[in-house]
Amino acid sequence: MKKDLTRGLVFILLASLILFLALAAFHSQRQAQAQLEAQLSEAGELLARGWESGLEINDLAVSMYDSSPLPNLDLIVLHEDGEVILRLPDQANAFKEKSREEFRRAFAGEDRFFIRRFEQSHKSKLYYTLRVPSQAAAIRLGVEPAFPWQDFWPLLLSACLFTLLSLVFCHLWVGKKTQGYISSLEGLREALVDLGQGNYAVQVSEIAGAPFNEVQALSVAFNQAGKLLEERHEYSLQRMARLSTILNTIIDPLLLVDENKNLLYSNRQALYVFGRNLDPEDKSYPQILLTHSEELDDLIDQSMSTGEDLDTILSLSTIKGDLRYKTLVSPIFVEDSVYGVVVALHDLTVEEESAAFRRDFVANVTHELKTPLTSIRGFVETLRDNPKVSSEQAQRFYDIIDVEAERLEHLINDILSLSEAEQGKIKNIARFDLSELIDEVIVLLDDQASDKKVSVYTEDNLPESLPVEAEADRIKQVLINLIDNAIKYNQEAGKVSVSAYRLSPQKVQIVVKDNGPGISPEAQKRIFERFYRVDTGRSRSLGGTGLGLSIVKHIAQLYGGEARVESQPGHGSSFIVTMNI
Ligand code: ADP
Repeated sequence: MKKDLTRGLVFILLASLILFLALAAFHSQRQAQAQLEAQLSEAGELLARGWESGLEINDLAVSMYDSSPLPNLDLIVLHEDGEVILRLPDQANAFKEKSREEFRRAFAGEDRFFIRRFEQSHKSKLYYTLRVPSQAAAIRLGVEPAFPWQDFWPLLLSACLFTLLSLVFCHLWVGKKTQGYISSLEGLREALVDLGQGNYAVQVSEIAGAPFNEVQALSVAFNQAGKLLEERHEYSLQRMARLSTILNTIIDPLLLVDENKNLLYSNRQALYVFGRNLDPEDKSYPQILLTHSEELDDLIDQSMSTGEDLDTILSLSTIKGDLRYKTLVSPIFVEDSVYGVVVALHDLTVEEESAAFRRDFVANVTHELKTPLTSIRGFVETLRDNPKVSSEQAQRFYDIIDVEAERLEHLINDILSLSEAEQGKIKNIARFDLSELIDEVIVLLDDQASDKKVSVYTEDNLPESLPVEAEADRIKQVLINLIDNAIKYNQEAGKVSVSAYRLSPQKVQIVVKDNGPGISPEAQKRIFERFYRVDTGRSRSLGGTGLGLSIVKHIAQLYGGEARVESQPGHGSSFIVTMNI
């Protein structure tokens, strides 16, 4: 910018200088010519007057010619009849025919001054012709006008000096005036580069006041645009973060694939399920490297070429093995053309497992209900169809019906307890003493224990008072189920010990230990399943429903804990329950 301005100013100054010099030269030349004309006419008049006064023209002319300062003076005196009276300098061809023209004009009393240009020599000559009526002749004086360099040189030098000084001044002035602009524009350029590289917070300093008003307006506009861009960028980042958070909370894998089947986005679940750490948002890569499914690749192709939503079930290889996924491939359109697809995967394993689980549960419940019901109906029919049944026999039948009805009641109560525990609702939380509750349950099961000659006692480490906060009925249910089992499945004259203590300020552990037959490792893995019994016949005969340990496990989970068993066949079992109570 500075260079351009300086160049422009130099050009203007030089053009002005040339124009000025041309005008000055023209003016000087005009002045010089006027001076020559005055000198010529003065010399001519002098000659004419002298001649008219009777002096010899020859003498007059020679003395004037010799003393005249006029450059290249030539002098001709011509008689009206065309005879050359005198010619100075005395050259044979000095008078040419066409010179008669100025004499003709002079004799006619017309223009006295005349300029003739000589084509060959490219010179010109100024003539002054004067009629001398008394002598019937005319005098012509001619000079070669020369450019008045002597007058022009000082002007030329001073003009050049002035121009030079002006140039230096202009250069300095332009430098000073453009400094602010240049640094501002440089700042703006750097800021724009920054902005292009994504630094939206960049701002430029705003030079205020004249002559920087335009630059200031530009800087203000830039800063405003930068702020707006920064706000928009911030907003879109927040939106993306929100969207990403939402997509990451979806428990189903979700993928965004471009038209070349490269991943643009994958939610956290998809990366986890397919065992990859490489986030496609950091570096895009083919979807097949994530899912390893050619079927899914084909499905994506199909959806992109037809532009239709496709819905199918695929078996995909995951970190948990091959899982069945309900797969939805949906094309994304940008201005009527397919830009890529969204792949939504829904794991059917859980649903299929829970459907199977429900089927099993219904079958088990039906089976469990059917046995006592069939028994009750059988005895009721026998009593109804045989009125002659003896009263002792009838009493026995009534007792069996009562036992079966009680079993039914147990079963229904256990199913209800299990369903409540599974729903995960904790209600009626109260503060109570766990040690006291343990004592209470031992007393409650005293008859069963006595029947089996099993002694139930509390361990020494059970604190006298163990205050907890929980739903007392549920904790009681845990204790009853564990102690009841320890008595039921124990040998005659066996022992059952109960202890409870705080593992941490929040965690309480309850241990029910027996010296019964123990449980095999295979059975240990399954005893917390619903309706699982090691010995179904024995369990039933002892009034078991197969749901007791399942209820214990769910209540423990309800309180953020767990239930587990430690057992060695032949060496008894220990049931350990931890709960945050
Ligand atoms: P049940 O109503 O049959 O007792 P549970 O769920 O309470 O159902 O127990 C499941 C099975 O675990 C029982 O049938 C029994 O075979 C086994 N079991 C439970 N507790 C003990 C124990 N203390 N000693 C040996 N086996 C046990």
